Amino acid sequence: MTKSRSVIICGGGIVGLCTAYSLARAGCAVTVIERNAAGADSCVHGSAGYISPSHVVPLSAPGMIWQGMKWMLSSRSPFYIKPRLDADLWRWCWLFARSCSVAHMRRAAPLLARMSLGSRQLFVEMGAAMNGAFDLQTEGLINLCKTAECLDHEAAGLAKIAREVGVEAQVLNAPQTAALEPGIRMEVAGCIYFPIDAHLTPRVFIPALLEQLSRLGVEFLWNTSIKGWRTDGGRITAVSTTAGDLRADDYVLATGSWAADTVRGLELRLPMQPGKGYSLTIEQPRFQLKKSIILADRRAAVTPMGSKLRFGGTMELGGHDGRVRPERIQQIIDSAQWYFPDFRADDFAGIEPWFGYRPVSPDGLPYVGRFRKHPNLIAACGHAMLGLTLAPITGQLVGEIVTGETPSIDLALLAPDRFA
Ligand SMILES: Cc1cc2nc3c(=O)[nH]c(=O)nc-3n(C[C@H](O)[C@H](O)[C@H](O)COP(=O)(O)OP(=O)(O)OC[C@H]3O[C@@H](n4cnc5c(N)ncnc54)[C@H](O)[C@@H]3O)c2cc1C
Repeated sequence: MTKSRSVIICGGGIVGLCTAYSLARAGCAVTVIERNAAGADSCVHGSAGYISPSHVVPLSAPGMIWQGMKWMLSSRSPFYIKPRLDADLWRWCWLFARSCSVAHMRRAAPLLARMSLGSRQLFVEMGAAMNGAFDLQTEGLINLCKTAECLDHEAAGLAKIAREVGVEAQVLNAPQTAALEPGIRMEVAGCIYFPIDAHLTPRVFIPALLEQLSRLGVEFLWNTSIKGWRTDGGRITAVSTTAGDLRADDYVLATGSWAADTVRGLELRLPMQPGKGYSLTIEQPRFQLKKSIILADRRAAVTPMGSKLRFGGTMELGGHDGRVRPERIQQIIDSAQWYFPDFRADDFAGIEPWFGYRPVSPDGLPYVGRFRKHPNLIAACGHAMLGLTLAPITGQLVGEIVTGETPSIDLALLAPDRFA
């Protein structure tokens, strides 16, 4: 087949790979540039694996400023900003604060619901196209509330908003919640159950997707770093890499939390902070779950992955700083025991904490679309806590942009220039 357009995808994380999948299927000649080696971890590898239409409230939700300030006072809270003199960070914080409004949430929630429901469907289709090569689990997600106060809050907030935008949410009491997960003892007030949510095991999904991409003719340049850009007027004429200058018709920016650094020479404004999160995977848990769970009062995640069980959480805005903070890890372990009293500290003994950097935009929405200043550069980054959930729909949208189709979702709120 003659390839209609050539596209270089910068970054081989989940968003870059799902974008490669869409573009290759649309008949484009696709090259992915990734600085790490084939098979190396990206942010999704240690993630909670949720595909979560239930996450309709953006990170910059109303009330998050006060909640965030309270959390900042505790070293064990799920959220932390490392205070430092960094103009990008403070500008990001100001934009974040500005987005924590009811009006923004009302605009963002229907968009997030539409994107994530579309993505979930695309995961089902990918599963069929890849002959079930990965484990898409469609058991739903339990938003578990330890306290009655939390349950009331989630029922009046998240569940109500989710229903308004077409995502089913069931408010369940303690016995009803226990019936959803009979294999484990829980001490909770109840839950919000989202039957439409799903999950998968990233370490199974990514190798299967890479194999599929090779079959579709996608070319990979591993161990290749992007260093800058060649431009002529507004057009990008090449991306400069450690393997030399590489040319294509279009370029996709999918370098995750490093996206703002990647485009530094292009004088674009793309506010982005790395939001570090941790996970701990128990290889042989004494108890196993069927569904993925959010520990709502503590903002931690629990996901069954095959025979393993993964706990994850925390959001640290501290730059790309590879130090592991033991108090944050302890917070995840304490949370597990608070909800599931039969878990013991030694269930987590000897587990090496994993961490990754979420690419966090200030308004809780990703950047998807062409840059005004360089129209053959397309943003596909800034998905924060929803990078896996939204990767397939992002890929589809980028495919539509490249091939000149009308995007199936209005891109206005996702414009990469919205903070310029
Ligand atoms: C603890 C935790 C739990 C999470 N759980 C979930 C979940 O359950 N569901 C969900 O939807 N999301 C979840 N997320 C978020 C999700 O993992 C991220 O949003 C997503 O992985 C981001 O993907 P990405 O492709 O945009 O970025 P990345 O995975 O960071 O990929 C970007 C790639 O670009 C490469 N790169 C960067 N700069 C250069 C350069 N100069 N040259 C070449 N290559 C470069 C990097 O090496 C990297 O591989 C979680 C995140 C964490 C940390």
